[in-house]
Amino acid sequence: MSDKILRGVMFDKSVRFTAISAKEMVEAARNTHNLSRVCTAALGRALIMTSMMGTDLKNDDEKVTTVIKGGGEAGNIVCTAYRSGRVKGYIENPSVELPPAPNGKLDVALAVGWFGELTVIRDLSMKEPYVGRSEMISGEIAEDFANYFTRSEQTPSLVYLGVRVDIETLKVLSAGGMLIQAMPNCPEEAIAALEAKADDISKLAARLEKGEELRDILINMFEGCTLEILGSAQPEYRCDCSRERLEAVLMSLGKEELTDMIEKEGQAELTCRFCNKVYHFTKEQLEAILKEGAGNSDERSDTE
Ligand SMILES: [Zn+2]
Repeated sequence: MSDKILRGVMFDKSVRFTAISAKEMVEAARNTHNLSRVCTAALGRALIMTSMMGTDLKNDDEKVTTVIKGGGEAGNIVCTAYRSGRVKGYIENPSVELPPAPNGKLDVALAVGWFGELTVIRDLSMKEPYVGRSEMISGEIAEDFANYFTRSEQTPSLVYLGVRVDIETLKVLSAGGMLIQAMPNCPEEAIAALEAKADDISKLAARLEKGEELRDILINMFEGCTLEILGSAQPEYRCDCSRERLEAVLMSLGKEELTDMIEKEGQAELTCRFCNKVYHFTKEQLEAILKEGAGNSDERSDTE
């Protein structure tokens, strides 16, 4: 397993960073959703970003979800990550393919679009989740997240996300990302030094493709920046759906809709959007869910 997330600080702890190597994770997403080249890059970038944000959570039962609505042909992108680095996600139109951009790269911006909103939902095991929003500005995803952190969370941030895809086989050659954030005490010189390194940082995925280790790349790239690696995690593409979870979804439809479904369809087939697993419910099973749901709502009204 070559995938890894490393977290730490630099410039005398005035800057924090998260870096990721995620070829296997993005390849797993590609296989799960049968992604086109441009969608591999688009969903891959979003997964990489969300996975890095997941490792910032404090508890195992917390999660972070990112929703990218750019108005492009590929549709919305939704990803959810946990503290362990585990992530799942989907893109609405996974087979959309576009010709390369004028610079020869996959045209992620055009596929994703830049007329909409980026939403970050942090479910921190409190009653209400924390929701932050910002406008989409480029559709390249990295710029959109950098803008989100700077505007919506008041944290000046540098974001790099890179996915390299084999044009012939469509396989993921490498995937890497970096989130660098200035702490409130960060001196101007550190920010200037980091901006001067933006070009180096944008070569991360290319260096990973050559077989370099993430740790070695960081140490080499930030030589003289007092880089300290403080933690690591194992990113992984895995869905956590279950029959119980989908029963809860059916229950949440409400008595009326569920009764309607039983009468008209006589069954239900639900597909998990994150892993495409199909769950089938017979009429009897739906009736049992309806009964249980009715029981629950009675209990609730008793306690209110
Ligand atoms: Zn699933």
